[in-house]
Amino acid sequence: MITSLAAGETSAAPAFVEKRPLERYAAPAQPSLIGMSRDTLADALGEVGVPERQRRMRVQQIWHWLYVRGAQDFDAMTTLSKDLRRALAQRFTLARPEIAAEQVSIDGTRKWLLRLPGELTNAPHEVECVYIPETDRGTLCISSQVGCTLNCTFCHTGTQRLVRNLTAGEIVAQVVLARDRLGDWLAAQPTSGEEPKEGRELEKRLVSNIVMMGMGEPLYNFEAVRDGLNVVADGEGLSISKRRITLSTSGVVPNIARAGAEIGCMLAISLHAVTDELRDQLVPLNRKYPLRELLDACRHYPGLSNARRITFEYVMLKGVNDSLADAKALVRLLKGIPAKINLIPFNPWPGTKYECSDWEQIEKFSEVVFAAGYASPVRTPRGRDILAACGQLKSATEKLSARERLALRAMAMTD
Ligand code: SAH
Ligand code: SF4
Repeated sequence: MITSLAAGETSAAPAFVEKRPLERYAAPAQPSLIGMSRDTLADALGEVGVPERQRRMRVQQIWHWLYVRGAQDFDAMTTLSKDLRRALAQRFTLARPEIAAEQVSIDGTRKWLLRLPGELTNAPHEVECVYIPETDRGTLCISSQVGCTLNCTFCHTGTQRLVRNLTAGEIVAQVVLARDRLGDWLAAQPTSGEEPKEGRELEKRLVSNIVMMGMGEPLYNFEAVRDGLNVVADGEGLSISKRRITLSTSGVVPNIARAGAEIGCMLAISLHAVTDELRDQLVPLNRKYPLRELLDACRHYPGLSNARRITFEYVMLKGVNDSLADAKALVRLLKGIPAKINLIPFNPWPGTKYECSDWEQIEKFSEVVFAAGYASPVRTPRGRDILAACGQLKSATEKLSARERLALRAMAMTD
């Protein structure tokens, strides 16, 4: 079902179309424990007969096996009795989503296409998850929906009709799966001076940061995103602090305040235009929540300071939003908000009407932004050879000129 909520017949901008999720999650007969909250896990233990007074302690033990050690088998959980392990294995699994494809880029970026169960047709759904290694951190970009509820005109995901909200479990499972594939779990404690054979020490974790910038609009799947991120941030488990988790939204204004209060992670706003007229076209949700309301919500986001800024994303579209007048207006618009600006080279997809701005233009635009005091404004498109961008798992290698390649490499070094 596709519902048109605001028509605006006389304007050139497309109607704001909000797709309702077409499918619901169909739980498997044997659910996975991955992603359950501590309370749900305690209930699960109740189901297999663990007395109430023991549940807290057992949850604590299982939490450690799931999220510190990365156990993939109940038998690995040696602090639990064999009977309890057997009972859990009969009723639950430790299943991760199936990997439909894995790609490794020459710069170390990895991209996984994950297959999630469908409800209606048994046709599985696919979402993306991308790992981007950098010198001082490793960032995992995760998805919140199959497809997207919204329809930004420059975004490939927005063209997909099929939408299903991911569950909290599926959100957490992307982090778990990345740690599996990267061998990023804590090493088992060595006995009597023996060297640990697998896993790593806590401070050397590869996945150190999360960005919710894959498929989907996270603030249209609020509860699952909140519950999933709260598991990811749990200091006794996956332990990725909320300061290292960034949620990107196209501007679902009422849920920005909720994200601040109920999640408390860092915020990124997909701005992309400095006037309502243009933003109505690029991000049709702007017709529902215009720039003034969006920026007001940003100003009131809790905990903002120069050390905790909002990131404003700005995709560079040739001849559309990339003039120097746009750059100056951007700087003016964000005045007074502790902000970072990320200029994102547009990643083209088959059938799109947009082109990426010329490199010279991106440089000139970025100089204006830089002169206004914003550091390193161009987000390096890492993993370009596997197209690690929103909604675009393709095998074709995008052609960049030698000069662009050099410029990108230089920026990656100084980032
Ligand atoms: N729905 C959320 C998060 C996912 S999109 C949002 O819109 O913020 C993550 C980022 O990728 C957004 O800033 C989005 O505008 C940008 N993006 C989408 N398609 C793109 C493309 N083809 N090229 C470059 N950036 C793109
Ligand atoms: Fe959805 Fe974000 Fe793409 Fe817009 S840019 S269609 S909100 S994923």
